[in-house]
Amino acid sequence: TEAAATQHQLPVDPPAAAPERDLMSKFDALIAERQALIDTGVTDPFAIVMEQVKSPTEAVIAGRDTILLGTYNYMGMTFDPDVIQAGKDALDQFGSGTNGSRMLNGTFRDHMEVEQALRDFYGVSGAIVFSTGYMANLGMISTLAGKGDYVILDADSHASIYDGCKQGYAEVVRFRHNDIADLDKRLGRLPKDAGKLVVLEGVYSMLGDVAPLKEMVAVAKKHGAMVLSDEAHSMGFYGPNGRGVYEAQGCEGDVDFIVGTFSKSVGTVGGFCVSNHPKFEAIRLACRPYIFTASLPPSVVATAAVSIRKLQHAHEKRARLWESARTLHAGLKEMGFRLGTETPDSAILAVILEDQTQAVAMWQALLDGGLYVNMARPPATPAGTYLLRCSLCAEHTPEQIQKVLGMFEAAGRAVGVLA
Ligand code: PMP
Repeated sequence: TEAAATQHQLPVDPPAAAPERDLMSKFDALIAERQALIDTGVTDPFAIVMEQVKSPTEAVIAGRDTILLGTYNYMGMTFDPDVIQAGKDALDQFGSGTNGSRMLNGTFRDHMEVEQALRDFYGVSGAIVFSTGYMANLGMISTLAGKGDYVILDADSHASIYDGCKQGYAEVVRFRHNDIADLDKRLGRLPKDAGKLVVLEGVYSMLGDVAPLKEMVAVAKKHGAMVLSDEAHSMGFYGPNGRGVYEAQGCEGDVDFIVGTFSKSVGTVGGFCVSNHPKFEAIRLACRPYIFTASLPPSVVATAAVSIRKLQHAHEKRARLWESARTLHAGLKEMGFRLGTETPDSAILAVILEDQTQAVAMWQALLDGGLYVNMARPPATPAGTYLLRCSLCAEHTPEQIQKVLGMFEAAGRAVGVLA
């Protein structure tokens, strides 16, 4: 009736219920801290722009030629002519994007091809590609471990691993970083018949240290747990076939799932999981971060496929990368810098500094001298450390490494880190 309709009409000028609470106000401390840093006159370490990229190891930053020692371009594949050509061809033949999920219209020829390249590279029966490595961890962990299951993870795990746990509602049990006995103890306390997933990383990206995977995987298996290893920072140069730390340490038969990324050694963007599990394909039917997002553009999967196939035989690149890591580690250690690892264990080399002021001053001095490294600070770093993270590339020349050492020495003296 007309009366009922009038009753349901909204008031013309509804009074506000309560003062609006600004949800952005929780960032005030963060904004103030950042501003205080910038007010000291330094370049913002988290707002660098690559104005030009000339090669895997050189870019123009703030108008200056700069050596790149802070990218995850370990194998230098970003400027490989075959990789670039594959991307151009795919753009011409398939267009710029897929406009859909892998489940629907978003699977093109080269999504299939890159999954085959992964199966060949890892020698496994199953490979699933995700839109990023972050989503591969998010998707795999949340889909494997649900309510009532347990995820047992290293305290220094990557954010994507922690987020995967949250999304799956599994019980999370953390053990001390790389501590085999602690892993054993914590697994021993869990119900025998519960589903358990132990999540490990081959190389931990902040300090560049390597996990004792062989021992940890053995402990996991003793307790009847499945194992997922994130080999993001070892692909291409660890193990006889470049599969990662798990291959180098000889535990290929016991790791159930390997997660990796295209954003590091492969040189583009994307993530994946490979496995020999006979039911692995079922992940595609249940995994939300696989289903509810658009698939990678054809040019990306085409470049990734060629890059992975070339990485399989990149023995010379691998040798050069390790040579540079050894030279840089020895040189910095000799100068008196405090490093994240005693020996050159990976392509990441972390210089540990006292506090934010010293780290930023050193970072700025290096940048002014023409060297870019990654600045890392809590909460991303372990134990509240401030780090300058150097990551090597197979395309760094011995001359560049010597130049880098000279830059570290000059900056270290200028800032007072070195006596
Ligand atoms: N796992 C680890 C260990 C990582 O360090 C990263 C990224 N730095 C990722 C996963 C996520 O990879 P992506 O960049 O492909 O999202």
